[in-house]
Amino acid sequence: MARYQLNALSADSDACFAALDRSNLIYTALPARPMQNGCGLNDGVRFDQSSVPYSSGFDLSCGMAAALYWYETEVDRLALEHLGSGLARINHLGSYACRNINGATAGRRSQHATANAIDISGFVLLDGRSVSVLADWEGETEESRFLHAVHKRACGLFNTVLGPEYNDLHADHFHFDMGRLRACR
Ligand SMILES: [Zn+2]
Repeated sequence: MARYQLNALSADSDACFAALDRSNLIYTALPARPMQNGCGLNDGVRFDQSSVPYSSGFDLSCGMAAALYWYETEVDRLALEHLGSGLARINHLGSYACRNINGATAGRRSQHATANAIDISGFVLLDGRSVSVLADWEGETEESRFLHAVHKRACGLFNTVLGPEYNDLHADHFHFDMGRLRACR
């Protein structure tokens, strides 16, 4: 249901910006970067202030911004449930990058090439603890259970979710995007 609604927003930029305007997200609508060589950004959003702070600023497509905004609240809830503390910060490795899938020299453009993706590397909690995909994915710890729970929840919101079990390139982050491919790995 959530993913259905978010895909509808991805397909309709007026509805998407209207939804962001009704949310608590403070954002800047970005001027279009026309598509060139498979890279560019229409309906771009810069996160200025959201429910949870991020390690640094980033640009996203509007549909992806809406999905991430929704996701933050879910991660905060899961942090409280699994770790007994809310979320203070989300660490990311970037969103927009003009490159192919997996950084390959040939092949299709990545969803990052249209700012329709973000890579999340970990979370900082209000009690000061850090949880990282690289260090905490494996094991029988509450941090590991939390990471598996937020990975699973992401699959209900984003179209594509890739993590450490997908391949070695994702050992240190979760990849989320709103492209057309459906994957939860
Ligand atoms: Zn990625």
